[in-house]
Amino acid sequence: MGPSPVPQESAAARPTVVRARNERIASSARRHRFDRDARVPFLCECSDDRCGELLRLTLEEYAVARDGADHLVAPGHQVDGARIVRVKESCWMYRAR
Ligand SMILES: [Zn+2]
Repeated sequence: MGPSPVPQESAAARPTVVRARNERIASSARRHRFDRDARVPFLCECSDDRCGELLRLTLEEYAVARDGADHLVAPGHQVDGARIVRVKESCWMYRAR
C-alpha cells in the first residue's frame, strides 16, 4: 500500500483499459507475423495513471502470461485490489480477487 492520489474509480479502470490496448497490440503483432523470438513492447497494466513502463515479451510469453493472469505489470508495479499470482523477471502477474 503506497500513497495513491488517483481517485478510486480511475485506479480500478486503468488496468482494464490498458489490458484491452495490449490485446490489440498482440493481435496486430500476430497479423504482421512478428518473429517468434522478437520482443513486442506491451504496456504495463498497473494502477498508476502516470506509468509509462513497457514489458518486452515474445508473443508466446504474452499468451502464456495472459492465460494465467488478469493483469501483467512491470516488476514492482501494483494493481489495486488484485493479488500477485506469479513473479517473473520480465513481468509480474496479478489476478483480480
Ligand atoms: Zn506500471
